[in-house]
This record gives sequence, structure tokens and C-alpha cells, in this order.
Amino acid sequence: MAKNYRAELVGVFGCPVDENPTGVMEEAAFAALGLNYRYLTVKVDQDNLENAVKGVRAFNMRGINLTIPHKVAVLKYLDALTKAAEIIGAVNTVINDQGKLTGENTDGKGYLISLTKAGVSVRGKHLTVLGAGGAARAISVESALAGAGRITIVNRDIRRGEELAALINTRTGVKADYFPWNQAFSISPDTDILTNATSIGLFPHINEKPDINYDSLRAGMVVTDVIFNDPNSLFLGEAKKRGALTIDGLGMLVNQGALNFKLWTGLEAPVEVMEGILKKEFEAG
Ligand code: NDP
Repeated sequence: MAKNYRAELVGVFGCPVDENPTGVMEEAAFAALGLNYRYLTVKVDQDNLENAVKGVRAFNMRGINLTIPHKVAVLKYLDALTKAAEIIGAVNTVINDQGKLTGENTDGKGYLISLTKAGVSVRGKHLTVLGAGGAARAISVESALAGAGRITIVNRDIRRGEELAALINTRTGVKADYFPWNQAFSISPDTDILTNATSIGLFPHINEKPDINYDSLRAGMVVTDVIFNDPNSLFLGEAKKRGALTIDGLGMLVNQGALNFKLWTGLEAPVEVMEGILKKEFEAG
């Protein structure tokens, strides 16, 4: 059989992107399965996104991840969107099938897998989501599509918060409401799952936590965080103290990376390898 020296190319476009750790876990996963894939961490500024996507086609790249500031801007350069990506209005993963570029959003799906692994289902549950940015949109829309009973959005910026609640109501049929967030917020006692989907607590700001009334948390609640570095966030620490079941953001990050791996290679990702190398990476600082 003829040898194949050509590597399949994938990667991430972003700006800033230097500190994005995704390449570490994807490269480790490719190596573990002996796949000739390369994950490139590429700095692409706002004005060059169109050219960069042309590059995906020109180089026959298998796919690409998008991060700040490209998740929404990339939509107009793609050929198709999955249903969830279309509703969320943002794409973090592109798959190139022989020149046809399809946009998907795996953030919310990675979140749901983390819950499933912890034995938690969103079906019929009342979710309270702190934040209304990209991560909050992906988590709320996927949870709604997965059968959540009701979703409460809590956000500082009123327009963004109202918009997300309206999006869930009109596009998924799940009842959503919005509460402004201008002082310590008390979580309603009928909340089943509380999620911090803000950037509060992300390294190096590990001493910060969302401004909520922590005594409104109760044993039996599920409390989750999108923050992956440090996965032992102060927010989850406070919830644990009050007897809640906690689920960290590292699992979500690994799970969305594993989904991307499968979309590109067609193979199940070595999730333990990916999680192990990320943990080491974060411990090393
Ligand atoms: P965005 O910039 O789109 O949204 C940020 C959100 O955080 C907004 O709702 C913003 O509120 C809120 N926020 C930030 N600071 C404060 C504050 N001091 N008080 C109240 N609200 C605040 O970011 P993303 O949604 O893309 O990302 C959010 C976090 O999720 C990041 O830390 C990111 O690293 C993480 N993430 C983790 C993933 C994982 O796999 N674990 C996947 C994707 C993201 P406002 O609208 O009022 O400005």
C-alpha cells in the first residue's frame, strides 16, 4: 500500500489565542490513537477571518474550532449549520466534508455530557443560569432542546439577558424568564440545577465568585460551573459546603473537545487521556 505522508489538519482560530489549551488535549488524543492529525493554534484577527476560512478550504483542513472573537462572525462564511448552532447563533466547531463547511456548537452538548456522567438529567428540571453570553446561550438552548422544564436567566446586562430568555421561549418552546442582576441574587428554592456560565472565577481571578446569596443554596441542588481553571472554583466550594452536588467546568471542556474529536475523526475520543493531560497542564500553571 502507498504510504501517506499527509497529515489531516485541524485547529483553532482566535485572537487572543496564545493561552488556549485545547491543542494540548486534542494532540494527546491523536497521539494516543496513532492518528496523523495536527491541531494548530492560529492567531487570526477579526479582519482576517474570511481569509482564514478560505484557508480551511484551500488547505483541505478537516475542521477548525473558533474562539473569541469569531464564534458569531464565522456564520456567514459557512455552508450549513446544525439546528443547535443555528438557534444559539454561534459556532465553536466547523467540519469540512469535501469542501462543505458545517458549523456546530459543542459547548452545551459537552455540558450535558458532564451532567449525564454525574447521573443528572435536565429533563423536566428548573435550571437557573448565571450569565447570558456565549456559554450561557449554548447551555440554555441545549438544555431546552434536551427537555428542561423551565429556565431562569440571571444577567447583569439587561438587553443580553432579555434576549436570551426570549430566544429560549420562541425557538425551543421551553418557558424562560429573566431577572436582572445588580445585587446579591437569591436562588429560588425550586431551582434543581444552578449553573455559573459567567467568566467570574477564571484564572487568574480565582479568588472571585458570583455575587449570589450562598445561603439560598440547599442540599439536593446540582451546582455546576463553566470555569475550568481552576476546576475547584470558590463558587463550587460554597455549594459543596451546603450539601449540593457539584460538577466542574473541566469536564465540560474535555467533553466538548471529545465531541469535536469524534466529529473530525469519526472515532471515540480517549477522554481519560484528554482529561489527564489538561489537569497536568493546569497544575503546572
Ligand atoms: P461572554 O463574554 O460571551 O459572556 C460573559 C458573561 O459573563 C456575560 O453574561 C457577562 O455578563 C458575565 N459576567 C462577566 N463578568 C461579570 C461580573 N463581574 N458580574 C456579573 N456578570 C459577569 O463569555 P463566554 O460566555 O464565551 O464565556 C464565559 C466563561 O465560560 C469563560 O470563562 C469561558 O472560559 C467559559 N467557557 C467554558 C467552557 C467549558 O468547556 N468549560 C466552554 C465555553 C466557555 P454581562 O452580559 O452583564 O456583561
